[in-house]
Amino acid sequence: MIRKTRLFTPGPTPLLPAAQFAIAAADIHHRTPEFRALFQKVLAQLKVFVGTQNDVLLLSSSGTGAMEASVSNLTSPGDPVLVLTAGKFGERWVDLAKAFGCQVDVLKAPYGETFDLAEVRKALKPEHRAVYMQATETSTAVRHDVEAVAKLLKETGSEALLVVDGITGLGTTHFDVDGWGIDILIGGSQKAVMIPPGLAYLSVSEKAWGVMEKSKNPRYYFDLRKERKNAVKGESSYTPAVALVAGLGAALDYIAGQAGGDLEKGRIALVDNAQVNAAATRAGLVALGFTLFAPTAPAAAATAVAVPEGMNSSDVVKALKSRFALVIANGQGEMQGKIFRVAHLGFFDFLDTIALLGAMEHIAKDTLKLPVKYGEAVAAAQQVYADAVKQ
Ligand SMILES: *Cc1c(COP(=O)(O)O)cnc(C)c1O
Repeated sequence: MIRKTRLFTPGPTPLLPAAQFAIAAADIHHRTPEFRALFQKVLAQLKVFVGTQNDVLLLSSSGTGAMEASVSNLTSPGDPVLVLTAGKFGERWVDLAKAFGCQVDVLKAPYGETFDLAEVRKALKPEHRAVYMQATETSTAVRHDVEAVAKLLKETGSEALLVVDGITGLGTTHFDVDGWGIDILIGGSQKAVMIPPGLAYLSVSEKAWGVMEKSKNPRYYFDLRKERKNAVKGESSYTPAVALVAGLGAALDYIAGQAGGDLEKGRIALVDNAQVNAAATRAGLVALGFTLFAPTAPAAAATAVAVPEGMNSSDVVKALKSRFALVIANGQGEMQGKIFRVAHLGFFDFLDTIALLGAMEHIAKDTLKLPVKYGEAVAAAQQVYADAVKQ
């Protein structure tokens, strides 16, 4: 039978056809009025997509480049910083902060869980220059409470910058960047904005710009001050990923188009879409007998599921690929074999969710030998969908 390749991974995510066409057509030079107009349009759209009055910069790198820039530009060797970590991407903050000589305090939550706010309060010291965290920890599919951490920083009079990796949080979580006081919020192109890997974007607060002037860490490619100066002219410091910028513009047009041309409303609809698909997926997989890996604080970006005792999640990953050409993600690091992860961020609709769950019923029955009644997972998801759309 025909098997269509379907990506259900939390980055890269499925590509938007309109963005692919824009990418294919983008044979323009980056030091021209045509590109400057495109770049400025996309930067303005990104401000709306992120939901901020702060500057938003676009970097030609994967998401980690913007994470590195948020350490190298904002800290000096010896600076005390606090990292909140509960998974592989939190651990990346720890590694990065150490690489740039910070004195790193680490607050850990177990994989599959989020932080106890009282613990965060205890861990926070007046001398911390920055707090680094994820909005959603993609390795465990957990959502962290950025709003609560932001409030805590304000309440305690902390001077620390709040730096949030929103790489899978953007487009799946509602943020009030300026109201809460998020100094840096980072996104990546291969996540909710439906285009290939290669671009990172980040919003930068006035407070963060001030700190940057005093930072003594070395930076060259990722010098955000230089990027800001060039962005005003519609340029980037070095040759940008021109085609991806064109693709990003088309994707943001599409997201706006989902709400009659209003990008802010389109962003809200995109977040709601991910949340409904995530809830439907959770209900479907639980109906099949799987256990949610992050039941207390599930992210809408992705769902992580533990396979029953004695089974290997790699078998589920392999079987979905070979039988249905459907690509999901295994657990990362020590979670490999124990959990699998399916994505909801970006260009997924409810019928994609139904396809995934239908395929999963076959795999649960044939590969894992679970007592499956066809339609169980799909029906549970349909109930969630029906409840969500009836007002
Ligand atoms: C995908 C992802 C990243 C960035 O990864 P890159 O491979 O550098 O693009 C960082 N943080 C989170 C939470 C992610 O999901």
